[in-house]
Amino acid sequence: SPHIVWFRQDLRLHDQPALLAAAQAGTVIPIYILDDETPGDWRMGAAQRWWLHHSLASLAKDLAALGSRLILRRGPVVKTLRAVMAETGAEAIHAVRHYEPWWRAAEEELADVLDLEDGNHLARPEWVTTGSGKPFRIYSAFWKGLQSHMPPGHPLDPPEALDAPADWPRSEALADWDLLPTRPDWSTGFDADWTPGEAAARERVANFRLRASAYDSARNLPSEEGTSRLSPHLHFGEVSVRAVWHSLDRHGDTETYRKELAWRDFTDGVVMALPDYADCNGRAAFDRMPWRGGREAQADLKAWKAGRTGYPIVDAGMRQLWATGWMHNRVRMIAASFLVKHLLIDWREGERWFWDCLLDADYGNNAVNWQWVAGTGIDANMFGRIMAPLSQSEKFDAGDYIRQWVGELSHLPDAAIHDPEEAGRRPRDYPAKIIGHREGRERALAAGKTIRGEG
Ligand code: FAD
Repeated sequence: SPHIVWFRQDLRLHDQPALLAAAQAGTVIPIYILDDETPGDWRMGAAQRWWLHHSLASLAKDLAALGSRLILRRGPVVKTLRAVMAETGAEAIHAVRHYEPWWRAAEEELADVLDLEDGNHLARPEWVTTGSGKPFRIYSAFWKGLQSHMPPGHPLDPPEALDAPADWPRSEALADWDLLPTRPDWSTGFDADWTPGEAAARERVANFRLRASAYDSARNLPSEEGTSRLSPHLHFGEVSVRAVWHSLDRHGDTETYRKELAWRDFTDGVVMALPDYADCNGRAAFDRMPWRGGREAQADLKAWKAGRTGYPIVDAGMRQLWATGWMHNRVRMIAASFLVKHLLIDWREGERWFWDCLLDADYGNNAVNWQWVAGTGIDANMFGRIMAPLSQSEKFDAGDYIRQWVGELSHLPDAAIHDPEEAGRRPRDYPAKIIGHREGRERALAAGKTIRGEG
């Protein structure tokens, strides 16, 4: 009887241990289920649906080349998988282990028929723990702990062929899922930057390995292409993290890059221990934080989303996010900090916006990074440490980046680009600063002081 391969965020044929396990066991039914119910509020955001559409089309093509098919279904995963098992007489389900709380709950419900394989991490997050078996709260300690599990195993080759079942179960048509935006089509800028799918992911890895030793010096400069831009490919599992790791082996000093890759593992360890981390402050004192609300704060939030705060580096980042579904990491930190500190708006508002706009939106990575920047997290720096967006912009030489993304400022020279208002060069169509740096900073510090131990 057939074996089901349940694809989730592992949309690839190389180094796909669940696919190999099924292929070794018998005939194979590959399936992807679009489930907007089980994840609740964390159902897939709009930008990622664009990615998913193209990634599934690519996976279906690659499976067809092996003589197989990708079955598409919609509905709650547990019920849908049980139904497909009943329809096909399948014996077991094979899947790669994931750590989003809704996936873990589904895995538990399916435990009697589910074979889980490791394939999405450098090491299983539950293996990397403190002496007393607790997850690490601090990244640097996690990194040290991870070393005893390194290097990760070698990536596996894809199966050469897949045996088809005598009868295929019914599949829905990808086009019927309406994953692509229609009117208005805000995704037109995605095509220029991104090609979803395993082949493109592998190509990006191959190109980046040549630049990997320059990562340490270039990664903080938004005007340069200094990072790998692998994040959506890694989120959707079009390439495995251990394949990326092993691709680096012989190319100079790549420790800084490896440390970033390990952040993915770390954040899944955090959400494994604290499944509500995307919704709840890591430090309970922040439940009493007087975040701003009401009409004025709503208008500020809207300006932040639209990239019209009057802070060029923040606005460039928010516009890059909207146009391309991605934002440079340094700018993510600056823009997130600006929302939480200068505008004193609850980090969860920003986290939600990122969830909907990012092609790499990831439950653990998004929540842990937002809480880290906000100062509300278990591993975070103090709330009272406030990033200065204007000097960050200068320090990391963001001039070209701003000129690219903020059209109103594209004519300004370096001397005026970071703070056109101060330089007396603010064009009429570019907004004045929504709040002064000092004023925003003082308001944030005062709010922080109202909750004990912060500020
Ligand atoms: P590179 O610098 O080339 O890094 C390689 C890979 O390492 C990334 O693709 C990613 O998988 C991983 N990585 C790097 N930095 C981090 C990090 N700080 N935390 C976790 N993983 C990391 N990353 C996401 O993948 N999804 C998110 O939803 C997400 N939300 C974020 C929200 C905020 C407020 C901030 C400050 C950061 C967020 N990040 C998120 C982390 C980071 O910004 C992105 O992973 C990175 O910018 C992706 O670009 P890259 O692939 O070129 O990264």
